[in-house]
Amino acid sequence: MSLHGMLSWLVVKCPWIPVLFLIPCCIIYDTIAFIRFRWASIFHSRDTRRHEERVQHVQEQVREWKKSGSTATMCTARPGYQSITLQTLKYKKSCQKIEINMPDIISIDTEKKTVRVEPMVTIGQLNDYLIGRGWTLPVVPELDDLTIGGLVMGGGIESTSHKYGLFQYICRMYEMVLADGSVVQCSRDHMTDLWVAIPFSYGTLGFLTAVDLDIIPFKKYIKLTYIPVEGLDNVVEVLEKETRDPANDSVEGILYSLNEAVIMTGVFTDECENWRLNKIGRWFKPLFHAHVKQFLKPEDTIPKVEYIPTLHFFHRHDKSCFWLVDYIVPFINHWIFRWFFGWTMPPKHAMIKILKEKFVPPNMLNQFVCQDLAVQFKHLKGLAELSDEMTKVYPIWLCPCNHLLTPEQEKFSMFKWNDLNVDFGVYGFTGVKSYHPVEGQKRFEKYMIDNEGFPALYAETQFTEEEFRQMVNLDTYERLRRELNCEGAFPHLYEKVSKLGRTSI
Ligand SMILES: Cc1cc2nc3c(=O)[nH]c(=O)nc-3n(C[C@H](O)[C@H](O)[C@H](O)COP(=O)(O)OP(=O)(O)OC[C@H]3O[C@@H](n4cnc5c(N)ncnc54)[C@H](O)[C@@H]3O)c2cc1C
Repeated sequence: MSLHGMLSWLVVKCPWIPVLFLIPCCIIYDTIAFIRFRWASIFHSRDTRRHEERVQHVQEQVREWKKSGSTATMCTARPGYQSITLQTLKYKKSCQKIEINMPDIISIDTEKKTVRVEPMVTIGQLNDYLIGRGWTLPVVPELDDLTIGGLVMGGGIESTSHKYGLFQYICRMYEMVLADGSVVQCSRDHMTDLWVAIPFSYGTLGFLTAVDLDIIPFKKYIKLTYIPVEGLDNVVEVLEKETRDPANDSVEGILYSLNEAVIMTGVFTDECENWRLNKIGRWFKPLFHAHVKQFLKPEDTIPKVEYIPTLHFFHRHDKSCFWLVDYIVPFINHWIFRWFFGWTMPPKHAMIKILKEKFVPPNMLNQFVCQDLAVQFKHLKGLAELSDEMTKVYPIWLCPCNHLLTPEQEKFSMFKWNDLNVDFGVYGFTGVKSYHPVEGQKRFEKYMIDNEGFPALYAETQFTEEEFRQMVNLDTYERLRRELNCEGAFPHLYEKVSKLGRTSI
């Protein structure tokens, strides 16, 4: 057997062995990134000249591309393995790569309550920086490695999204380099159509170079109430009731089977009842999804309350990437592992992606499902039943989200959004032998089209172009592409996100 064959066997059969061996590399990488970021935020914050030079560098590259008469479309030079999406980004090979080396926080304005950042800043870095100054973001997506650019262009959500909407709704201003090398800034009141069209455009309208984000005061704790619920109808009812309750700052649910869930509601506070304090982020603590499951007791359905340090709460799903790391390190929640090695988790996403792309045969992942599907409450039950019938993957993440566009802005939006939606996150290997990834995905997608829902586009999609157009309204997007000369400069959105489309780039 060749070395590659042996490594491939090891990665498939015992993925935790290579992962544990590579963890020191991840720690070194993270430490260097941390020192570099701290250095930049201490010595270069408010140094807007550095940012301007970087924008000029992007402009020069775009102008050179234009001058060269190249027929290849442009994309960011960020290697595909660094992107959180589980897709292999093959389109990068045929595109002209533009370096967007922009990893810094530019400035914070506590009067206006905004922070200006470059697109490669990660959500983990930004949140640490803000919390150190007594602030945070209204929406702090899970997984520290997500970048601001990726969250704007590809969408972001958190358990506060029922109140503040998706990540894009906390973005006041976008700065972009366009296909002709010029720079524009758009906001809610200036070039509103572009401001609405940038989110979910996946870098197909221009290169993002800066974003102004809303900030809110940081409160030290969240008072979290765990509500165990039995019966799917009750799950939908309780989740909807709590979502519509304005007193809740945070609402999410974890569905452990078709009939059992724990719905969690939270209120941020500076006060804490010490006897109820649970520092869930300490290295030896159980994984969050396992901790929450303990509240599912048929004989005791009374809601329980805990106070959790807010920073720990923000990272609650990070350690096991919801529940995905459990597949790679099956003993991650064992107390011996937690006490001795819990601090090393999670493994770096980029490392797992490299191992996957180099050593895992594609058919090994046929049983793997990774979908975020947004539906209105009235269609949640049907979606849960469909998912159960096809995949039996559990747990499932339930995260309500709001759509906060005014009617004036709404007319530029890609999505028809009539009411509050719930993100239904299916992540895991299905044990259903008859599950077929393409057919399964198509059934999910048909359910979305028939019920005015939409899947998150970072995952693989099987939409034909016609189906894709049925789901989204591309009028404003395509008008802007014509006006901003994007044709030939950037792939079309459908080409970039869809499996069928990507094969044609
Ligand atoms: C396992 C998993 C778990 C997830 N969990 C969550 C979650 O908890 N919360 C959440 O909100 N989301 C979650 N997501 C979705 C994730 O937020 C999106 O996939 C996001 O787009 C990924 O960001 P990234 O930093 O990896 O960006 P990338 O994947 O690198 O970029 C996304 C897109 O944006 C474009 N882009 C990025 N930067 C720029 C730029 N400067 N200019 C132009 N275009 C640019 C890229 O070309 C690409 O098309 C999850 C995804 C996965 C796979």
